[in-house]
Formats: sequence, structure tokens, C-alpha cells
Amino acid sequence: MSPSGAEVLRNIKSQIDEVDPREVHEHLGNGVVLVDVRETEEWDTGHIPGAKHVPRSYLESRIEGAVGDRDARVVLYCASGNRSALAAYTLRELLGYDNVASMTGGITLWKDRGYEVDVPAAFTREQRERYGRHLLLPEIGAEGQAKLLDAKVLLLGAGGLGSPTALYLAAAGVGTLGIVDDDEVDLSNLQRQIIHTTDRVGVPKVDSAEQAIAALNPDVEVVKYRTRLDASNVMEIIDGYDVIVDGVDNFPTRYLLNDATVRLGIPVVSASILGFDGQLSVFKPYDGPCYRCLYPVPPPAELAPSCGANGVLGVLPGTMGLLQATEVVKLVTGAGEPLVGRLLLYEALSATFTELKVRRDPDCPICSRSPEEISDSEMGVFPDYEAFCAAAG
Ligand SMILES: [Zn+2]
Repeated sequence: MSPSGAEVLRNIKSQIDEVDPREVHEHLGNGVVLVDVRETEEWDTGHIPGAKHVPRSYLESRIEGAVGDRDARVVLYCASGNRSALAAYTLRELLGYDNVASMTGGITLWKDRGYEVDVPAAFTREQRERYGRHLLLPEIGAEGQAKLLDAKVLLLGAGGLGSPTALYLAAAGVGTLGIVDDDEVDLSNLQRQIIHTTDRVGVPKVDSAEQAIAALNPDVEVVKYRTRLDASNVMEIIDGYDVIVDGVDNFPTRYLLNDATVRLGIPVVSASILGFDGQLSVFKPYDGPCYRCLYPVPPPAELAPSCGANGVLGVLPGTMGLLQATEVVKLVTGAGEPLVGRLLLYEALSATFTELKVRRDPDCPICSRSPEEISDSEMGVFPDYEAFCAAAG
């Protein structure tokens, strides 16, 4: 006679490691990976803070994404401790996780003991559908999506890099997008600045970008700054943003932006393009090098893109802008390893990516000091730029 379901469960429980919620609570955050194996509807009603979500029905396909290290101490829980016991057995017997346990009594007992529960942000039905593919990713999920919706990201320029970045960040559901640009749409922009359209030639870029974003995702609020970033407005404009996307094409603004963001502690995702080549890095103040650590002096004038009109492959800002957008999403959600202390070089003609390590300069004029020590008069100090460009001929 085949054993009953209850017998199977009893048998499995006798073979796995079970832990009490009190023990889990004591070790929370001490290298223990807590995994909630309930269904999404259950997870959304509240879960243990810091837990990862891998529904039991997706256990085999998604556990690696959530827990890469098979030697890690993993504690699984469900509503009452039965499904997590079965899942613990599967993880150990079929997937090679040796240090796995199931929490007895599940989240029900956890709550009875009075321990804390996180209730994720409530999404509308439309948002669930719109962001469905994000919600399925353990690295993003409802928590990451809520962070994106709460995030304020500032784009410097609605040009080649800013166009694809703005569109994808809007599509991803970044709640507030600030855009700084004083220019109007020109026919020669449309070869690469894909947020603008032929019928909006002559329209201010901030307005054109706002129209495109509104049509794509009504969840996004656009804050327009029809101006150029300079020493008189930089602090006021950037204050309060979580991440800044730097697509500016001139060195004075880059240095100014660097100094101001170091002072305010705002990470900058910076990219530049020229011809067929692109560069990308993330400058996270005091976590990695700043722009001045990397470029203590501006590059030779003949290589400075803003000293005149230069050719650029139309799709290149798309490639680099989307790498920027990806870094923004990672910074906001905490997923993965941001490109801090690394410079990524892309050569389109040879189709190669090269990564260079970059270190903080202990003598950096800006980030070797604490933010309070950086005075207004020091920000953006830079050799005479017009003389510098004139020297390039
Ligand atoms: Zn520095």
C-alpha cells in the first residue's frame, strides 16, 4: 500500500533539518539566506524582512538566481512549515544545497511570536501587468520595482545618450525623471536621439522628451529644467536625486558635476561617445574613484568632443545609453555589482569590450577630503576651457 501524503511529509521532515523561528530570528542577517517558497499572492501579503522569494513551483529554475552559493546556510519557510520542508528536501537531494533547513510553523508561527513582517508596496492591477517581467526576477521583484517607482533619477541632456536612457528608465518604471536640457530638437539630432520625432523639430527637447515619456508610461513624473547646468544652479538642481545620468558632452560641466555630486554623495552613471567608441563608469562618491581621480586633467584638446562637431555612429549612443540605464536600475534596486572602480570601453568597429580597473586617488583634489571641506569656490575649477579648445585649432 502506498504511504499517505501525511506519512510522506512526516518521513521527509524526519530526514531534513528543521529550525524554530526564534533561532531564525536570532541569526537574521548573519550570513543566513532566508527564502520564502510561498506563491506570489501570499508573499505580497507580507514576508520576513530580507527574505528572498522563490515560489516552490519555480524552485528548481530560480533558486540559483537567488542563492548562488550552494554551501550557504539556507533557511526556507512557507505558511506553516510543510511546503518548506518538501522544498528543503528537494534542494538538498536534487540541487546540491547541503546546508539547508526548513523553519517550523512557517510565517504563521513567526507572526505569532511577534516578529517583524514586511508588507510590500501595493501595485495596481495595471502595474502588476506592466512590470510583470520585473516582478518575476528574484533580483528585482516587488521590492525592487517599488524602489524604482520611488526613485528620482536626473538625466543631464536629452540628446544621444539621454534619449535611450530616458525611454528605458521610463519603461522600467522609474517614478521621477528629471531632465536638464536647454536645446531644441534639430533635424540632425534624429539620427540618434530617438526620444524625439520629425514632427517635433524646433520643440524644446525637454518638452519633446516629456511627450514621449508620457505616451510610454503614465506612472512617470517628468521634471523639466530648460537650462544648462552651471555653477550657479548645479547644487539646487541635483539635490534630492538618487542617481544622476551624465550624458554631457563637455569637460567643464563634467568636473562641476563631479565636484557637486561628491559633495552631496550622489552616484553618477557617466558615459561618453566619440566616433565608434564609447566609455562607461559609475562614480559612487567615497565608494570608488570620482571623475577627477580618473581624469585629474582634461584629455588632450584635440580629443575633446565638445571642441567642435564630431561624427558619431548613430546606434552607439543607444548601446552606451542602455548600459547607463542598466547601471541605474542596478544602483536603485541593489541588484548585482555596479560598475564602480571600473571603466568599460566599447569599440563598435571591432565589437570588443575592455574593462580597466580604476582606483581612488589618495591625492584627489576633491574626494580625498570630506564633503564639508569642499567649498563652492572650488567646484568645477578647471583650466580656461576656451583657451584649451582654441589650442586644439
Ligand atoms: Zn576623486
